Amino acid sequence: MKNLNLATPDSVNTQTFLNRLEEGFTFDDVLLVPQYSDIEHRSEVTLNTKILPNLSLDLPYVSANMDTVTDHRMAFTMASHGACGILHRYLTIDEMLEEINSYRRLFLDHAIPEKDLIVSIGVHDSDRVDAAFSVGIKNFCIDVAHGHHALVKKKIKELRNKFGNQVGIIAGNVASYQGAYDLFDWGADCIKVGIGPGSVCTTRIKTGSGYPQLSAVVSAYRAKLDYLSSNPAKEIFIIADGGIKVYGDITKALAAGADAVMMGSIFSGCKETPGTVWRNENEEMTKSYRGMASAPAQSDFGIENINEEGVAVTVKYKGSVRHIISRMSKGVRSGLSYSGARNISELQEKAKFVKVSYSSYLEGKAHKV
Ligand code: IMP
Repeated sequence: MKNLNLATPDSVNTQTFLNRLEEGFTFDDVLLVPQYSDIEHRSEVTLNTKILPNLSLDLPYVSANMDTVTDHRMAFTMASHGACGILHRYLTIDEMLEEINSYRRLFLDHAIPEKDLIVSIGVHDSDRVDAAFSVGIKNFCIDVAHGHHALVKKKIKELRNKFGNQVGIIAGNVASYQGAYDLFDWGADCIKVGIGPGSVCTTRIKTGSGYPQLSAVVSAYRAKLDYLSSNPAKEIFIIADGGIKVYGDITKALAAGADAVMMGSIFSGCKETPGTVWRNENEEMTKSYRGMASAPAQSDFGIENINEEGVAVTVKYKGSVRHIISRMSKGVRSGLSYSGARNISELQEKAKFVKVSYSSYLEGKAHKV
């Protein structure tokens, strides 16, 4: 009979399992504890931030590098409000160059100073990088579903060897302390955090892998602080990517250690996002929003043999993104003031979280009295 190696006592297996079992939280699991404040008006709160050594923002919002969220028009609109958008990577090189041109033309047309554009690249893109760099693009986002990967290390090293510190590198996505630390150590200026929290993402369902988003950001922040303690001359940043359902989640992500927050769903359906507006059977105006790893996106971009890990949905038309940014900023500024914080770094120093029960969570929803 085959030896099943039953010698190991169950208790040892259980202990090994428990030692490897982590506890993670996401936005709805916690609240920020209100704290003493001497802030008399929301306008005293600034939301200035940086996401790359040479890229400062007035507002900590980044529109997602997805084909139904960010093209030249959305990137321009975000930049003109002091935020930023990242161009997605499923474009041909010619289309990317056209997008870069159109982006720049919008600044000229509106007679406002141009802001640097960030373009996404894959781990195998070299011609794309050269083409973008040759027209003056200096900021790249290495965009991989599982960013804690040997190929990401190779790509970051390749970019650093070729361009040194002339380029700003965002890399991701990761969701662990080690993933974050390694990406910083490999040379990324900024990391994108989030495996599976996205509203149109099915990664966790299809693969069983992922990490509760708020805890993922906390782990990345710990890695950032540890990395900085041994590399004090460096400037490194964190973008929390995905899972923002309400504006309060943005404040929580910033408090947990993010320098900025990337959003897809919240911006989807806006006037400035790519795609047409159409009326559904109830005569409501709608647009589409889809995961980049959804079947329709993959088929449109001619991608084969990738696990389908996203879905496509229809969202209500939301009008101009300007209104969303304005409401969002009121909420986030107010959020900072509840923690007695005048800016994002003060928020990160002062913030205290309380874990909430399910009934506390329900208490926080608007309810009838
Ligand atoms: P949302 O703001 O919750 O809608 O999340 C947006 C984020 O979802 C993006 O910035 C990506 O990180 C992630 N994402 C986009 N497409 C897919 C997909 O097809 N599968 C998994 N995650 C995706």
